[in-house]
This record gives sequence, structure tokens and C-alpha cells, in this order.
Amino acid sequence: MIAEVIVDIVHSEVDKIFDYECDFEIAVGTCVVVPFGLWDKTTTGFVIRLKSTTDIAPEKLKSIIRALDERPAINEECLSLARGLADRYRVPLAACLRLFLPPEMRMGEVGESTKTVYFLTEEEPYFPPRAVKQRELYAYLEEHGEADGAFLRKTFGSALNALVERGLVRSKKERVLRTPYRGAEGEAPVRTLTSAQQNAVDIIHSTEKTVTLLHGVTGSGKTEIYLTLIAEQLQKGRSSIFLVPEISLTPQMFSQLRARFRSEVAILHSGLSAGERYDEWRRLREGEAHIAVGARSAVFAPLENLGVIVIDEEHDGSYSSESTPRYNTFEIALARAKYNGCKVVLGSATPSVETYRRAAEGEFELIRLPDRINARPLPEVTLVDMRRELRRGNATPFSSLLRDRLKACLDGGNQAILFLNRRGYAQSVQCRDCGETVKCEHCDVALTYHKEENCLKCHYCGARYKVPRACPSCGSIRIGTMGTGTQRVVRELKTLYPSARILRMDLDTTGGKEGHYKILKQFAAREADILVGTQMVAKGHDFPSVTLVGILDADMSLHFPDYRSGERTFQLVTQVAGRSGRAEEKGEVVLQTCEPENYILRFAANYDYTGFYEHEISMRAAMMFPPFCTIVRVMVTGEDEGETLACLKEVYTRLSALYEREKEKFLFFNRMHAPVKRIQNKYRYQVLMRLLPEGPLAEIYDEVAAVKHKKVLCYVEENPSNLS
Ligand code: ADP
Ligand code: ZN
Ligand code: ZN
Repeated sequence: MIAEVIVDIVHSEVDKIFDYECDFEIAVGTCVVVPFGLWDKTTTGFVIRLKSTTDIAPEKLKSIIRALDERPAINEECLSLARGLADRYRVPLAACLRLFLPPEMRMGEVGESTKTVYFLTEEEPYFPPRAVKQRELYAYLEEHGEADGAFLRKTFGSALNALVERGLVRSKKERVLRTPYRGAEGEAPVRTLTSAQQNAVDIIHSTEKTVTLLHGVTGSGKTEIYLTLIAEQLQKGRSSIFLVPEISLTPQMFSQLRARFRSEVAILHSGLSAGERYDEWRRLREGEAHIAVGARSAVFAPLENLGVIVIDEEHDGSYSSESTPRYNTFEIALARAKYNGCKVVLGSATPSVETYRRAAEGEFELIRLPDRINARPLPEVTLVDMRRELRRGNATPFSSLLRDRLKACLDGGNQAILFLNRRGYAQSVQCRDCGETVKCEHCDVALTYHKEENCLKCHYCGARYKVPRACPSCGSIRIGTMGTGTQRVVRELKTLYPSARILRMDLDTTGGKEGHYKILKQFAAREADILVGTQMVAKGHDFPSVTLVGILDADMSLHFPDYRSGERTFQLVTQVAGRSGRAEEKGEVVLQTCEPENYILRFAANYDYTGFYEHEISMRAAMMFPPFCTIVRVMVTGEDEGETLACLKEVYTRLSALYEREKEKFLFFNRMHAPVKRIQNKYRYQVLMRLLPEGPLAEIYDEVAAVKHKKVLCYVEENPSNLS
């Protein structure tokens, strides 16, 4: 038999596919060791096709040395999915296969972990009277059956070897599972679904549509619905994938899942150790676990017979990949659902405009959960006009209303969350004379002042700078900071409420494994009264004692130059507000803005998603923005400006020809600097296009794939969530 093997899937930029002879039984998708290159070095590869003939001359045909694993690493479904991705994004198959395997496995660096256990072979042997330890060891094994070698050696010392030598004890290897967050299991609470939840489950069962959108306000009990669906599938012997945004992947959440599903759950995400990730992946592939939980990459979990795929917080930006291939998680989920004949359930309090439109038009089933569990009211939102505060002489980040409410909240023994989407102390450092802002030397962005380290930091490349004494541009010493960041908020809170205990959660305080979890845990344990943070505080957390949420500056995301800025602001405000008043006590929200009349903020303050949606979709239709068109950006980026421009020119020439041929399918076509002209010393240019739905998307990928520049990176993005 001849096997087509794709080798070196880790490093190569092109597919290296070769024919090998195989003289043993082998399945497509199996990982194999093959001789490779002139000197017949060995390397690993994947069998991607089996056939009976080859064009290679018999004397040149080499043989597969062995299979690395008795089971295929990639099943048929996943292989065809990888082929589909390679075709859709015009990338090598190797790059797509990588998505399906834990990185450790591809490198062949991590294997199973084993331990040696010892057991008895003989009954009631004779022990000399002085061999006390030997007798104790014997008794121990008699009681426990078998035990771990390291433990026995530590406890009984050389007695172990003595018994092995006498042949009374033998050893064997046993597989050890490296399970993340082991021991976190508690008892799962037994809950009966509310009638709204049961109704949702019933509709998902009866609908003929593959996709259901669960549009439920924060705290409406969506999670319980997902878990019920997953449990039902498990009962039927079918597996599930449960996707959540990276930030929600807390040990807390896993212990909840473990409590409910025990070892049926496997976790896949980047925070695990290599060994843990490998073992969790194996447990899924071997059919020892049937539920994969993780961030977007868990959509590639090696599961068969899928019964349901859940995508929680479907609007979250983390579901689109930012490296090659730039896949869309929902598209993959849909492909897997079609292959397995299963359902996809999307959930959100603030669905993306695109998803909601597909549901509203009948492509997806739409289920609304307008009420919180136990009819707890949604917190009341008060809009505060910060221009008026300024006119009254209040230049602090806190309106007088927020100060009053904060005092009442703390006096009442409750907790508060203050949200500001800017880390650091001040947004920028600016010269009062020439107006120049201090910028990063490697990036075309303003530096942020960090008071704790007393330095300026670049939030794009991480570079640090000393705080300048004078303006780098005109030499004036009248330079000062502009705008407020989380560090300054904490500092001002400390002077206003000296006895309050304050925690800060942003990228600077959440380094390391489980960094943000530690802060959340402290706050949940009520070791602090106020949590100040960036959008990390907005996601899914459930703190019963939080009764006040302050949104310090709602305008920041509103004026982001992006067609999605309104949508994103609505989502952010709703999500942050949803942290307040989740238990018995009523919650409230103070929303500070300089545009209290802004329609997005008004809809958000009234929890009027439908109002927001109707307004937004009619505006997008009028302006012909997504979902009525596809924004396609071809990024061209490199360190050498001349080469980058040369590459841009080639890309542009190719695409121009396409544009000339199919002009009527384009709404916009131009090349330009990217909004941020340089990041980490790399110049950034783009060809920006807006295509009608029938536009030549595949051809754009073809044209870009044909461009080969050694030192310039060039890639296509569809409706990118970040247009900077
Ligand atoms: P969502 O995911 O929609 O934001 P959650 O699933 O977090 O909502 O539910 C909100 C709260 O209600 C949680 O504290 C959860 O434990 C509780 N809850 C959910 N369903 C039930 C139920 N059927 N009975 C009792 N409590 C429930
Ligand atoms: Zn100056
Ligand atoms: Zn920088």
C-alpha cells in the first residue's frame, strides 16, 4: 500500500507531501515516523491519503518506519475540515492540520507520563526476625494491593529492593493523568429548570434549524440551559463542545463543570502545562472524556459523534483567530455540526448584529430570555452628564452622583465595580506649548504614563521609557499628562475613601498563570470593597454582593474609528452593568458620559437590545456596512519600508486587475497606510475593500497567496474586529 504523508507540519510554509510504502495496516490521519531527506534523517508526518499506486520509481520509494500511535491523531472529519480550511483561506494544509493537535504532540516532545507501581507475587513468605521494614512493607501491600514506587521507597527505604530481589514483589508501569485543577471538585447543586429554561431546551430539541441563538439578559440562566443540553447528550452517549471566551476560563468555572460531569470533562486552553494539555487532548481522543471545554481552539477537539456545540458570549471578539489561518470559530462549529448532524447553540445578552440579523431573518432559531432568574430586576442605569460636572468645577474621574452612591454602597457593606477601559495612570503625555504627544520609537502610538513604575509604556510593543523632563519636540518643560487610567482612579479613590479596600484588575496586574483569577477570588471572598478594572471586569463574573457599577467613561469606545464601535459600546455597557445586583439586593449603575443624548447609550441604559438593533441595522444598511457588505483588508507589513512598499505595490496591482474586472461587486477599493502606521518597527500598509455579498472573496485570497515576498508579511482579514 502507498501512503501520502505530509511531513514537517510544524515549521514549513508549504506542504511537503511525499509517497511512502507501507507494509502494515494503517489508517488515514495516523502520525508516523518516516525517513526524510538525503541522509534519511527521521521525521514525523501524517498519513493524509492511502492509494495503491505511485509515480515514484520502486528503487526510490522509501518505507514508513513505524506509526507513533495506534489510533489516528486526526479523524476523517477533522482531516476533511482541515482540507476545507486550506482551500477557503489558501494556506498550506500543514498549517491547518496544526490546529487539530496540541502543540506538544506535533513536536513529539511530550508523551504519556507513567509511574511504577509495585504489587505482591507470593503469599505469606518467611521474614527473618530483624527484617522489620520488609515485614511492614509486605503488610502494606497486602492491605493496599499496589502502591506507587516513589512512595514505597520513601516510606520503607531499601526494604523495597530487598523484596524485589527475593521475587516477592513485582513492578509494572501505569499511566498517570496530568489533570488541570484536580481536587477542585465539589458537589454540584441540584437545580430544576425554570419554565423559561425548560421551554428553551424544548425548542432547541424540536427546531429543525441547526443553529439556535439564545438571547438572554445577563443572569437569565443560560449556563444552566447549556449544561442541561450537554448532560442529555452525554446520556445518549454523544459528545459536546462548550466554547467560552478565554477570560471566562477560570478554575472556578472548571470546578463547577467537574462537579457536574466529573472526568467526562476535558479542558483545552493555553494556560495549561504541556503535559496537562496533552493528557486532556488524549482523554478526548480515546473517548475517556466526552465534553471539551475551552476557548476558540477547542472547536477543533478530537471528538466523535458530537451531540451539541455551545458558543457562549458569541459576540466576543476572541472567537476570530488572529493568526494564520484566520478562521471564524462559528464557521468551523457549523461545519462540524453539519457533519455530525448536531445542533449549535449560541448564547449572549448582546448578540452581534450579524448573528442577530440571521436569527431575525429566520436562518437561526431565536429564543428570548428577557428575565433574570427569580425575576430579579436588572439594575437601574443613570446617565450622568460629565460636561456639566466639569462646568461645576469637578475635574475628577467621579461625578458627584457616583461619589454619593459609592459612599452609600460602602456604608451598606456592599461591593462596587468601577470600569474604565484604559490601563496605566494617564492616557498620554502632551506638550502644552507645541501640542506634541510623546510617542513610542518603534510604533506610531502615544505612550501611556504608569505611575507605579514611574515610566512611559507602549501598549502595542511593551517598550518602556523614562518620563521626559522636557518636550522631545520643542524642548518646553510645560509637559503634562492627559486623560485618566485605572492607576489614577485607584489613587483618587484612596484619598476619597481612605478605609476602603481596593483591587485593580487590568493587563498590568494579571500577569502569570491564573493572574486574573487570583484577583477575582480575592474580590469574591470580600477581601476588597471596590474592584477597579478594564474590560476584564465586564465578562461573566457573578459576585452576589456587588450592588453598584460605575462606568467612568462610556465615550472612549464610542469614538473608536470602526463601524462596530456602537455595537461594541452597547455590549460593553450591558455586560458591565450586568455585574450589579445579581443576588437579593437591588443593583444600580452609574454611567458617565459627555454625550448623555447618544442613542447607543440610551438604548443600553434601558436594556433595549431590540431598539439598539433596529437603529443599528438600518444605519448599516444605509451606509452599506457589514452585514450588508464584507470588509476585506489585506495587510502588508515589514521592517524595511522600501520592501514593504514594493510588496504593497504588487498586491495592489494584482487586486486592481481584479477590481477592474468586477468593479460592480466592489463598494470601495483603495490602498493606504494602516491607521497605526508602525508597530514593533514594522511598517503597516493596507489595501482596504468593501465587497458586496457576491463579491470575489476567494479570488482575493488567490491573488494574495500568489504574492511572495521574503521579508514582508501579507495576509487577508475579513470584517476584522480590530482595524487599527
Ligand atoms: P447567564 O449565563 O444567563 O448570565 P447564569 O447561568 O449565570 O446566567 O445564572 C444566573 C444565576 O442564576 C446563577 O447564580 C445561577 O446559579 C442561578 N440559576 C440558574 N438557573 C437556575 C435554576 N434553574 N434554579 C436556581 N438558580 C438558577
Ligand atoms: Zn513641545
Ligand atoms: Zn511600541
